[in-house]
Amino acid sequence: MIKVVFTDIDDTLLDFTECSRIAVKASCRKYGLSFSSELLDRFMRITSRMWKDIENGAITREVLIKTRWNTVFSELGIDFDGELFEKSFRSDFYDTGEKVEGSDELLGYLSQKYTVFAASNAPYDQQLHRLKIAGLHGYFDYVFTSEKIGYTKPDPRFFHACIDELKNIEPHQIIMIGDSLRADIAGAAACGITTCYFKRVNDAEATDVKADYTVTSLLQIKDLL
Ligand SMILES: [Mg+2]
Repeated sequence: MIKVVFTDIDDTLLDFTECSRIAVKASCRKYGLSFSSELLDRFMRITSRMWKDIENGAITREVLIKTRWNTVFSELGIDFDGELFEKSFRSDFYDTGEKVEGSDELLGYLSQKYTVFAASNAPYDQQLHRLKIAGLHGYFDYVFTSEKIGYTKPDPRFFHACIDELKNIEPHQIIMIGDSLRADIAGAAACGITTCYFKRVNDAEATDVKADYTVTSLLQIKDLL
């Protein structure tokens, strides 16, 4: 029997693309750069590639922070200081809380039946603040983050550290909900945690990872749990 729910935050409960769009636009305005969907798309692609590298242990988050926007600007031939823009982007992103459709209703439902924790690869203060802005913070017992734990999903040590914080809960009594087969599903499954893959988009994640459940909208999870 499931007793505990772990849920990813970005692109599961909060819409990372929309939050990024708001933050990129605000920072462009600040520095007189023109915003375009090409800029956002390039940023999303580079961010996704770098997060894959972080999750594989190939680079650290500090490398992403130092190089991400410089890479975006150099690929698009924009002459601007990427590290300066990164700083501004992060500060604007901190104040974003755009929700994925159904997140409020799902968390309201789950929190009546289970103990709910967030499990996110990100800084603790930022994620807590964004959940507060979105009005979702009250549904959680605690927000686990890679920053506080010191390990990044899918590293099993991330999930073991979360489980260690729970009293008398076995891994199979936990379900992990997330949009990444690699970070959320493979990592949790390796620890014996039940898994629910939120397939938001038809992504081409090349992996043979199989989740216990797959949904294409958050509210479908109400039928499973
Ligand atoms: Mg995610």
